Amino acid sequence: TPILIWFRRDLRLTDHPALSAATATGRPVIPVFLCDEGVEALGAAPRMRLGLGVAELARSLEALGSRLILRRGAALPTLRALAAETGAGAVWWTRLHDPLSRRRDDGVMQGLGVEGRAFPGHLLHEPEAIRTGAGGGFKVYGPFFRALRARDPGEPLPAPSRLAPPRTWPQSEELAGWRLDAAMNRGGPIVAAWQNPGEARARERLDRFVAERIGGYAKARDYPAQDGSSRLSENLTTGEISARTCWHAGTAALDRGEAGAEQFLKELAWRDFSHHLLFHSPGIATDHWRPEWRSFPWAQDADSPLVRAWQRGRTGIRLVDAAMREMFVTGRMHNRARMIAASLLTKHMMTDWRVGLKWFEDCLTDWDPAANAVNWQWVAGSGPDASPFFRIFSPQSQAKAYDGKGEYERMWVAEGQAAPPATALSFFDAAPRSWGMSPRDPIPAPVLDLAIAREAALAAFRARPRPG
Ligand code: FAD
Repeated sequence: TPILIWFRRDLRLTDHPALSAATATGRPVIPVFLCDEGVEALGAAPRMRLGLGVAELARSLEALGSRLILRRGAALPTLRALAAETGAGAVWWTRLHDPLSRRRDDGVMQGLGVEGRAFPGHLLHEPEAIRTGAGGGFKVYGPFFRALRARDPGEPLPAPSRLAPPRTWPQSEELAGWRLDAAMNRGGPIVAAWQNPGEARARERLDRFVAERIGGYAKARDYPAQDGSSRLSENLTTGEISARTCWHAGTAALDRGEAGAEQFLKELAWRDFSHHLLFHSPGIATDHWRPEWRSFPWAQDADSPLVRAWQRGRTGIRLVDAAMREMFVTGRMHNRARMIAASLLTKHMMTDWRVGLKWFEDCLTDWDPAANAVNWQWVAGSGPDASPFFRIFSPQSQAKAYDGKGEYERMWVAEGQAAPPATALSFFDAAPRSWGMSPRDPIPAPVLDLAIAREAALAAFRARPRPG
């Protein structure tokens, strides 16, 4: 009887344990992707980006003589119906660790009526594999990394050379009919042009990064105007490349003497760390991990003019404006820029990190339920392994240190430039007309005085109600 392989955030053929196991049985394999509750819950940019990845996966499967069957509907009834229709005796998938996916997958496992089986593959190591001496999950990154570093994730699995087809293929819906880019009314085609969708492009990106840049990565990754990091996050979050494949390339580079590779491994471990944290503390995506933050007197809500200026790249703090525009146009934001933009929102503007988390969730094509939440809580100071609240990034000193020549600012902020580059101008094509922005506007004046805002945030922090 056929096996249904239910693809979700594992849009690849290489190093796909569920797919390899299914191929090894010799049984017919029916690959399926659902526009289910998980997809419906996605923000505009990640949903659009997922669609690009699904299209690429369908093409790779067709090249193997197989197909990707597309169905729309809630996961459990849709899979049950498809299993009945095809006579499939099993549905196999790659395990996910966020609360929404877990709830859905548990329901599927219980109600499917045929065998349901979850395989590893989304992370380097499953949460059960990395534990403290006391048996729980790590809350601090340092010891987590040491424990992870001591374990070998194993060799990546090769892609199957052939998938046995079923006797007859079930009907498939059309991907275009799902209109996964519909919510990108702020420039879907512009964002799409910046992406590297699909397994083949992800692999190319990794190979080029390892061949050309990994040696200098530890330093170069901090400069937002440079192409110094791997830019694989969009591929990792859609599963177009496995973390294990990246890890393997990183350790091989380290063996060749590329010093920067160790930092790359550390960042891949941050990805696992955030997923393990989310697994052990599912509330971390929705609530302050440190309960004392529940009573912090947040000053702005989601609709306040300051938050709106932040979202629209119009704070007058040029590095932050560049960052917010880079994300709006490309679906990406440089890591250092993310930290600075998030710090301005949560500290100087005293805004609950969840307001920023939501905006990123809608705008980032690499949106990841674990990395987004854990990093926002890290910046805000409310998370388990967090930068303390009183350590407030100064956007000016950060700009001086990491964008000393203003290249990143000029790349993304057109106002005040006689001949702005195409990148800066593309923001005005992406931004809704209702924002009323034009490249000929004067340079926006700062919406707040950084020094006064910093002192106010620190005072509120010191005066915050404490537990007990
Ligand atoms: P590289 O520097 O090449 O790193 C390699 C890989 O390691 C990345 O692709 C990513 O998968 C992982 N990684 C790197 N840094 C982190 C980190 N701090 N936490 C977890 N994993 C990491 N990353 C996301 O993938 N999705 C998000 O939704 C997300 N939201 C963030 C929100 C905030 C406020 C901040 C400060 C960071 C966030 N990050 C998120 C982490 C980080 O900014 C991105 O992973 C990184 O910028 C991606 O670029 P890259 O692929 O070139 O990374």
